[in-house]
Amino acid sequence: MHSHSDELWLVNPRCEGKILQGVTTEIGGNCGTSVAPLYAAALAKKRRDAADYRLDVQWTSFDAFFTLVEREGVALNVASLVGLGTTRLCIAGPDARRLEREELDAQNRLIRGAIEEGALGVSSGLIYEPGRYADLAELVACASAARDAGAPLYASHVRDEGDAAEDAIAEALAVGERAEVAVQCSHHKAAGTKNWGKVHRTLAAIDRARTRGIAVACDAYPYVASWTELATVLPKSVRDGGDEAALVRLRDPEQAAAAALAVELARDPKFGGDGWDTILVTGVSSERNAELAGMRIDAIARRWSTTPPRAVIRLLVEEELRVDSAFFSMSEDDVAAVFSASFCSVGSDASARAFSGITARGVPHPRTFGTFPRVFGRYVRQRHVFETAEAVRRMTSLPAQQFGLRGRGQVALGMCADLVVFDDEHVVDRATYENPFVPPDGIRDVYVNGFAVVREGAVTGARPGRVLRRGPSTSS
Ligand SMILES: [Zn+2]
Repeated sequence: MHSHSDELWLVNPRCEGKILQGVTTEIGGNCGTSVAPLYAAALAKKRRDAADYRLDVQWTSFDAFFTLVEREGVALNVASLVGLGTTRLCIAGPDARRLEREELDAQNRLIRGAIEEGALGVSSGLIYEPGRYADLAELVACASAARDAGAPLYASHVRDEGDAAEDAIAEALAVGERAEVAVQCSHHKAAGTKNWGKVHRTLAAIDRARTRGIAVACDAYPYVASWTELATVLPKSVRDGGDEAALVRLRDPEQAAAAALAVELARDPKFGGDGWDTILVTGVSSERNAELAGMRIDAIARRWSTTPPRAVIRLLVEEELRVDSAFFSMSEDDVAAVFSASFCSVGSDASARAFSGITARGVPHPRTFGTFPRVFGRYVRQRHVFETAEAVRRMTSLPAQQFGLRGRGQVALGMCADLVVFDDEHVVDRATYENPFVPPDGIRDVYVNGFAVVREGAVTGARPGRVLRRGPSTSS
């Protein structure tokens, strides 16, 4: 339902971390970032990201990207949303401002082009640069452009998943109502101890919207830690205008001290913050800090004999903001409550990594390898949130329906043979935060379009996956 593999489909088409947990189709382009369209600042950013994986960006459109994926072959089926952060970067760069009329029109043309080339809908990432500068009117315009092009779907990493989570969900629902599109609330949660329990109110709001006729749904992963850029802890005023502007501010001692103070206050448990031991650094960009992956911020601060906020800022400056972290911010009861909603799909929110090679680095979130088996182990067998068959529906036909993937998601005559043979009494994740590169137990065979990609628990190396484009071509 929700992945971030994107250009990694080209870096390592075997997608081992995903197929070994039974994934047969991945939907990318989430949280406002997609592989296309790529112009100007969006192309420069993708080139920089891809360079980490020694990948040349030889495409600017979905057509060209999908053609490359088809030429290389890929183990599982792939599909993508078009990211509104990416389209905004194409049009206005990292600027912290509203778009002019002509810019909005240009953005809508990019969206229409992307949908015509097979994107399934649009996605927003409203905590990220520059996606967060889109106001409701811009989001409605973008979702309407997608609807007019034949893809009435808006997926959102909403503007706030903590203190203002209810307002953020209300905004996503407003986009659905005004643009008349389906809404997918991505990785639904309430982050921060003081916000625990809020999911009951957000889920109720989604339920009410559904009774009003909006096709709104959500997805979740079965862990209490989220995973995103460490830079998201910085005050918005520091991040305004994108990475380069933020780095200039953080390199200035006076501004860095002010940022450290703001960050300290926000995380202080005395004021309801969750403290620094709840943030685990999972990956950095440079070699010199590679050993910090797997350490919590408080421990890094001790190693550097400084305060945690100053350690965060030093690390972000040294790594030019390219630091990933796990945030232990959710309650297990909330995660169970979200899964108990009949409209909640399962999505890993992770990219496809391998057990060796260039994607096997850092200490990525264990959801990268364990999401789907863990749902059975923890939420079916331990917590009895749902039965096996219902858990399967949340991983198959429900996401296929929500994203308009025809011919997928059900075992029936005439459907594509995307199949997983697993032992429902024993299937379980083994990946941990300390040691994530471990495949699950209990998944025997995985078939994609009728071909085995996993047989007797071993990767076959076959690449039978297809690109699933919006429209009639998504059925076989
Ligand atoms: Zn997200």
